[in-house]
Amino acid sequence: MGHTHRIAVIPGDGIGKEVVPEGVKVLEAAASTFDFTLDFERFDYANAEYYAQHGKMLPENWFDQLVGFDSIFFGAVGWPDTVPDHVSLWGSLLQFRRHFDQYVSLRPVKLLPGVTSPLVGREPGDIDFYVVRENTEGEYSSVGGKIFEGTERETVMQETVMTRTGVDRILKYAFDLAQTRPKKHLTSATKSNGISISMPYWDTRVEAMAARYEDVRVDKFHIDILAANFVLHPDWFDVVVGSNLFGDILSDLGPACTGTIGIAPSGNINPERRFPSLFEPVHGSAPDIAGRGIANPIGQIWSASMMLEHLGETEAAAGILDAVGAVLARGGASLTPDMGGQATTAGLGDEIVTQLTGES
Ligand code: ATP
Ligand code: MG
Repeated sequence: MGHTHRIAVIPGDGIGKEVVPEGVKVLEAAASTFDFTLDFERFDYANAEYYAQHGKMLPENWFDQLVGFDSIFFGAVGWPDTVPDHVSLWGSLLQFRRHFDQYVSLRPVKLLPGVTSPLVGREPGDIDFYVVRENTEGEYSSVGGKIFEGTERETVMQETVMTRTGVDRILKYAFDLAQTRPKKHLTSATKSNGISISMPYWDTRVEAMAARYEDVRVDKFHIDILAANFVLHPDWFDVVVGSNLFGDILSDLGPACTGTIGIAPSGNINPERRFPSLFEPVHGSAPDIAGRGIANPIGQIWSASMMLEHLGETEAAAGILDAVGAVLARGGASLTPDMGGQATTAGLGDEIVTQLTGES
């Protein structure tokens, strides 16, 4: 009998409510196939209905309710008719990120079989890397201010904050990840030719960390040419690590190179597992297609695979991704309309479950 993992399920808004049940369905199938137990509990907050009733996204005691879970399986948040976007985001996801110290944002950039990359001529195997983004400090500090407001001398300043602890812990995560991969290659995003204090500091910490990982090959690129190389030479990369701002940009650019928004997954991770990590698709609540049962569930299902990887269920994580790849490769009518098929959200979820349970 395998481990038991406690999972908090938060579907959120819009298509989150449609794709999360598909993710749960696949997780349940993975648990019975690979012999472990998942204990799910669903929370109906962090959504527009909750906000309409309570004027906020979360109850007072959300931290105590969620802190004991091993992971949070999240859908999407945002319903602009009811809640301003900055309120829904700050009132939910960013609270989790901060209080659960989810200092790693992890996004796989992997071209799956059957998916056409917008990069002409690229095949699965050409694109298979991770973007690791620092998620708590850096350029997104709220340190700074305005002076001479409303005059011609109006001036604004905003500081980048890098702590040694903050930089070292994200680098350590990225090096550890690189060490688990066949290529053992780490690329650092920098801009030390233009940003003259924080980025040279980042580079120094990369060098210091590299000394502890002799088997990892390390290089660095300035962010401008690095972005260009994501498009021109995606096969050069294995693990790419960046500060909060650079990582933010790269973690949208990367998945954009590997197909539709409907399939990209993400993790907000507290690697030490002192607090729950959160797994969610990259896409939002998609109000334009919500309620029609046609949303692509693969971003949510791939996020489920990442969650199992984090929980140590490596075989099950790979099993889910293989099943997704096999269904994508067959293509045709069993895909959702965003990928050119006619399937419903639940139909595609079922197809992946059948593949997963039949295969293993
Ligand atoms: P965010 O909420 O992250 O700011 P957004 O609201 O701008 O993002 P999304 O909700 O991701 O954007 O939707 C962007 C577009 O992609 C919409 O046209 C939406 O219908 C489409 N889309 C997003 N996710 C999916 C999906 N899972 N399946 C099919 N189409 C999707
Ligand atoms: Mg949105």
